Amino acid sequence: MSSSHHLETLLVHGGESPEKSTGASTTPVFQSSSFAQETAEDLEQIFSGRKFGYIYTRNGNPTVTALELKMTLLEGGRGSVATSSGMAAIAATAMTLAGEGDEIVAGRSLFGGTYGLLAQTLPKYGMQTRFVNASEPSAYRDAITEKTRFIFAETMGNPRLDVPDLKAISKVAKEAHIPFVVDSTVTTPVLIKPREFGADIVIHSTTKYLNGHGNSIGGILVDCGTFGWQDHPGFDEQARRYGEFAFLARLREGVFQDFGVCLSPLNAFLTLMGIQTLSLRMKKHCHNTEALVKALKDHPAIEELRYPGLPESKEFPLAKEQFGGRFGAIFTFRLGTKERCFQFINNLSLALNLANIGDTKTLVLHPASTIFRQFLPEEKTNMGVTEDLIRVCVGIEAEEDLLNDFRKALDAL
Ligand code: PLP
Repeated sequence: MSSSHHLETLLVHGGESPEKSTGASTTPVFQSSSFAQETAEDLEQIFSGRKFGYIYTRNGNPTVTALELKMTLLEGGRGSVATSSGMAAIAATAMTLAGEGDEIVAGRSLFGGTYGLLAQTLPKYGMQTRFVNASEPSAYRDAITEKTRFIFAETMGNPRLDVPDLKAISKVAKEAHIPFVVDSTVTTPVLIKPREFGADIVIHSTTKYLNGHGNSIGGILVDCGTFGWQDHPGFDEQARRYGEFAFLARLREGVFQDFGVCLSPLNAFLTLMGIQTLSLRMKKHCHNTEALVKALKDHPAIEELRYPGLPESKEFPLAKEQFGGRFGAIFTFRLGTKERCFQFINNLSLALNLANIGDTKTLVLHPASTIFRQFLPEEKTNMGVTEDLIRVCVGIEAEEDLLNDFRKALDAL
């Protein structure tokens, strides 16, 4: 199996083959914390990296490896590390690329958890982030200093739904010789391969569409193989020992192992299962979203509906180019007041009121009182979160049933 196979083939077969001892066609769940070796010599060689083998699931596990191989193929990368959550993937990447006294440049309209990591937690360890307007590539250039260690962007802001120009930002990163890290959680490899738009590292919260069924938290980071790690400050030793694998080796031997942010084998198994149907699901997610947006955008109860797939939206041309004519499955709208938002949510009977995205089920949320509640009003505004905003993550139910549910809930306001 290689990256030259079509996406749907890689989704099904990538990184997986029948298990050798039994022929089991599904990758087994290696639910074992550690792995015994025949001889003391074998274990010594595996520990010292002279022989391949598994030692302990915090360092590696065969079920998790299958997921890492699949994602490496899907993103056309050099290698991957699966983590206990999407936040763990972002934190491990940041703390591998940057250290005390270093800086990061990131778009302002990030997912709340990522914003919290960059704005509140990393500064406690001496890493500062300069936040810029995500849609202005020149703002990234202006924010770079000699201390900048990477640029971070999301393919589509969640929930702002702005669309950064990845090619233009990657040009800025290349000119400055710093890696470009892209969170593609809301777009998945079905909508975009960020490597083709200049990303050096791609991150996913696998909790979302990749798993797809809301049954396990997980994350992954993929090294696209496009950045020359010998140029990255502090990477000299890893570059000498591991060459092009310097970033992955430094991450595995450092933050990943020491903070213990490994993915559980069962969660890797459930994610592998989910990924096989990713293409089918994403088509239906996007189709249902377009149908709902079209039917609801002029509803009198709605003040403003945002979706990058609306031809009149300013994000539309770039979103069309970057995401191959699909626009994701998240849209937002404003209902005037927080009270009307709560009333609307309570009026729904099919859509679930919960803090997640990328489930087969349709999910709604009032972001201001939940995920974004701890941020200052100005920070919320930057992230596109107003008190009267509803976020909808559309599932794969029958579109007619969703339409009825939403219409009934809006009509009753
Ligand atoms: N990145 C994005 C774009 C997200 O939406 C989320 C979670 O909602 C994360 C990262 C964090 O992922 P996790 O919840 O798996 O830690």
